[in-house]
Amino acid sequence: MGTQIQRKYLDLHPGSLDRWAVARDIFPDGVTHDGRRVTPFPIYATHGKGPLKWDVDGNEIIDYWTGHGSMILGHSHPEIVTAVQEQVAKGTHLSASSDLEIRWGQLVQQLIPSAEKVRFHSSGTEATMMAIRMARAYTGKMKIIKFEEHFHGWNDYLSAGGSGLGGIPQETLSTMIVLPPNDISLVEETINRNDDVAAIILEPTGAHMGLEPIGPTFLSQLRDITYKNEIVLIFDEVVTGFRISKGGAQEYFGITPDMTTMAKILGGGLPGGAVAGKAEIINMIESHPEDNNFNNTRRIAHNGTFNANPLSAVAGIRALELISEGEINNLASKAGENLKQGLNEMLGKLEIPGCATGINSLIFLRLNTDPDEADPEKNITAVPDIRKKADSLMQSELNLAFMNNGVHAGNAHGGARFIMSSAHTEDDINKTVSSVAKALSEVREQGLL
Ligand code: PMP
Repeated sequence: MGTQIQRKYLDLHPGSLDRWAVARDIFPDGVTHDGRRVTPFPIYATHGKGPLKWDVDGNEIIDYWTGHGSMILGHSHPEIVTAVQEQVAKGTHLSASSDLEIRWGQLVQQLIPSAEKVRFHSSGTEATMMAIRMARAYTGKMKIIKFEEHFHGWNDYLSAGGSGLGGIPQETLSTMIVLPPNDISLVEETINRNDDVAAIILEPTGAHMGLEPIGPTFLSQLRDITYKNEIVLIFDEVVTGFRISKGGAQEYFGITPDMTTMAKILGGGLPGGAVAGKAEIINMIESHPEDNNFNNTRRIAHNGTFNANPLSAVAGIRALELISEGEINNLASKAGENLKQGLNEMLGKLEIPGCATGINSLIFLRLNTDPDEADPEKNITAVPDIRKKADSLMQSELNLAFMNNGVHAGNAHGGARFIMSSAHTEDDINKTVSSVAKALSEVREQGLL
C-alpha cells in the first residue's frame, strides 16, 4: 500500500495521522493554512528551539520553514521569550497608545529606507491591501499592476492572477492588471495604453520569495518608469524585509520604492504587519478637521483591534533591535551561502540535474534547472518554465522524503525552499545536505528523478 517513501512517512508519524483524523472534521482539508496541506497528512508540531522543532511523535526536524519566514532568530529566542513573558504580565491589550508602538515604529523608520511614515496591521495580507488602497486614494487612479506568480496574501484585489478566486467580484478583479515579470517593454506598453494606473506592486526578489528571480535591472527599470509616470512603486517586503538585509531588498539592491509592506520578521514571530512609505501617501489616513470633503471622500478610515498590540510590539522591537545591533542577517546569510554551496556540490556528486540558488537567507533547490536558467539577467524567458517542469507526484514524494529524513523545507515547483535563520549552524547545514542527498536518492529510486 503506497510507495516506500509513503510507508516510511506513515511509520514515522502515527501520532500526526491520529490528529489529522480529528482535524478533518473541524477544518477544511483538516488544516488552517492552504500551504500546510500535505498528502497524505501533515505533521503536528509541539515545540521549537533555535533551528529545530519536534513533532508529536518525537521526531526532531531541522526547520527551514521557520515560521513561514518570520523566525530569522530561530525558534524561542531567549530574549523574545523574556520580552513576551514580561509583557503578558503587564497586559496584552490596554486600548491605548503606548511607548511600545513608538519604539517599534522608530525601528522601522531607522531600518527601512523608504519608511518616512508607518502604519501597523496584524498581517501581511492587510498591509498589501492597505498599500494599494493608499496608492489609489493618493493618485485618484484605480488600476494596479502586479506580476504573475507574485504572492501578496489573500485579499480580494491581490489574489488576481492566482487560483482560488471564488467569491471575488469580477469588478474587483477587473481593476487589476497581471503581467509576466522581467519584461519592461510590456510594462511600458501597458502604462502607455492605460492612464489609470495607480501603482505597481511586486516581490522585489521575485515570485515565491525569490524562487523565480527578478533581476536588479528590472527593478531599476520599474523605478524609472514609475517615477516618470507618477505611479506609486510598492515593494512587498513581507518576506524580504529585515531579511535580505537589515533594510530589506530595497537596501540590498539600492532601489527605494515609494511604499513598502512588511510582516513576518517585523513581529518577531508574533502576528504583525505594517505599511510604510512616503509621508504624503501614508498620511491618506490622517484626518483634516477643517476639510470635511477630504475626510469623507479621500481619507482612508483605518481601525483594527490588534494594530500595534503590545505583545507583537515587544517581540518585534526586540527582534528589530537585535537585527539592527548585531550579526543576525550576516549569520543567516552565511548559513544560506553554506547550504547553497553544499547542495550544489552534492547535486554534482550524485549527478542529479539541478542547482541551488537564492539570495542571502532565501535558498532554493531547483531540480532539472541549470544555474543560467535560474538567473533572470542571463535568460529571462526561461524563468517561467520552472512551473511547467514541476511534477506534482515528484513534489509530493520529495516533501515526504525530506520529512522522513528530518528536514522541513517548503514546496518550490519541483524542488524545495529553505528559509534560513541565524540559529542554523554549520553542523545543521552538513546534516541537512546529507539528509537532502538521502531524500533525493530515495525519490530517484522510485523513478521520479
Ligand atoms: N506578501 C508576501 C510576499 C508573502 O509571502 C505573504 C505570506 N507568505 C504575504 C504577503 C501575506 O502575509 P500574511 O500571511 O501575513 O497575510
